[in-house]
Amino acid sequence: MQRFEEIPFPKQLFIDGQFVDSAGGETFPVVYPASGEEICRVPLARDEDVDRAVRAARRVVDDGRWARLNPHDRERLLHRIADLIETHAEALAFLETYDTGKPLRETKMVDIPLTIQCFRYYAGWPSKIKGDTIPVRGQFLTYTLREPVGVVGQIVPWNFPLYMAAIKVAPALATGNAVVLKPAEETPLSALYLARLMAEAGVPEGVFNVVTGDGETTGAALVRHPDVDKIAFTGSTSVGQQIMRQAASHIKRVSLELGGKSPHIVFADADLSAAVKGIVSGIFYNQGEVCLAGSRIFVQKPVYEEVLERLRDAARNMKIGDPFAEETTFGSLISEEHRQRVERYVGVGVEEGAEVVEGGRIPPNCPKGYFYEPTILVGGHNRMTVAQEEIFGPVAFVLPFDTVEDVIGLANDTKYGLAAGLWTKNVSLAHNVARALKAGTVWINAYNLLDAAAPFGGYKMSGFGRELGEEALDLYTECKTVWTSLR
Ligand code: NAP
Ligand code: MG
Repeated sequence: MQRFEEIPFPKQLFIDGQFVDSAGGETFPVVYPASGEEICRVPLARDEDVDRAVRAARRVVDDGRWARLNPHDRERLLHRIADLIETHAEALAFLETYDTGKPLRETKMVDIPLTIQCFRYYAGWPSKIKGDTIPVRGQFLTYTLREPVGVVGQIVPWNFPLYMAAIKVAPALATGNAVVLKPAEETPLSALYLARLMAEAGVPEGVFNVVTGDGETTGAALVRHPDVDKIAFTGSTSVGQQIMRQAASHIKRVSLELGGKSPHIVFADADLSAAVKGIVSGIFYNQGEVCLAGSRIFVQKPVYEEVLERLRDAARNMKIGDPFAEETTFGSLISEEHRQRVERYVGVGVEEGAEVVEGGRIPPNCPKGYFYEPTILVGGHNRMTVAQEEIFGPVAFVLPFDTVEDVIGLANDTKYGLAAGLWTKNVSLAHNVARALKAGTVWINAYNLLDAAAPFGGYKMSGFGRELGEEALDLYTECKTVWTSLR
């Protein structure tokens, strides 16, 4: 096992190509959630530090060198970043597990490989981003150009720290923007490691900057900075609303990936063992700390009891404990505060009439850290708090349904619209329901799949803008129309 002290990651802000302390010298603690112990401290960036980072980014945007870099050179640079992440994959996986408390097997098999794939995918784009010639009336040659937005502030959450950063950083750099990244206060370490790799890859100074600190201090400073052209945010809907309000004063571009309360539907004809596996990973993967989590599980009445029994078995059989142990499939929640929030929600569920049929406790074998058992609630209806509010933890709410029309109504009866899943062998039913669901992603006989090439994002209060895929290029480019008289 790689010891924390041996992982060669920087513990300073990354501004204008240099690792530096914060101007005021303040720091904050980073905690290993599976033990609750402080493992290091990193700088707290305040307005002055954020301003330095934004000015460095502005400089490199305004002098045009970065935006006009030959697309093939930009591609090589992005591939070099991907190569370096690959070379450092093991250290990054360990670091991510120390920072989040999630199982090492997942950071190794999911977080880091998805990050590499994301940089590789966007490495292919610079030579393919192009405008159009427009058939206008009159004698004109009219064409469009795709230009970078400029200085982009990116704010990401703690659940997949490096991957959430990659989803934003890779397309922003591929399109010639300069970035100031703010990782979550709970998980700043992999972003700093990425900064080190950026420098090693030869990314020009000022193009990529990392400021660490909490949302109210560092994040808010980035959002209100007048020289930031765009904020790309992933996090809770309430913070997304604040960001949108603040961005209004400068008409900053905003893209928002927010919360979810995704429906996961099992029809009676489904392959039940596959469906149960999908549901379990849909709600318990990453301790349920997933924006896409299939937290409302609707099971058609004829198979309800059987599916519930199998779900209970699967929840009981999850291996909770030491995130570094090979067999562990379920790690720690991110913080004590978050664990208490999850506990509170389970309490409210019970008060409103639900029954805890599995979990609902701190696991007895994990007295230290912020663990919480995979939990299943039943009994009640879709208007209950636990069916409407995002818990962002390992809490499944299982409800029976009768007809296709009923379940479509129930599934869409939410303010969110991030994702949905459904299980059936009936092809036309599957596609009809997929169309009827108001969600940015629908999985049929699958769940939780992401690919750098497949766009991803929310309907309704789950946000707007699509990340990943070709769609993300729109988030990071302005379209300029050029008219030329041919007379
Ligand atoms: P959060 O509290 O909204 O925080 C997200 C990020 O925003 C963090 O870096 C946070 O900083 C920062 N922040 C907080 N207040 C801010 C402010 N006033 N101004 C600027 N930045 C601010 O969310 P979280 O608890 O970390 O993450 C869980 C939420 O993220 C869930 O709702 C989940 O659904 C959502 N999420 C969505 C997606 C998606 O793609 N749709 C993916 C993952 C997670 P600090 O944490 O350092 O204070
Ligand atoms: Mg941490």
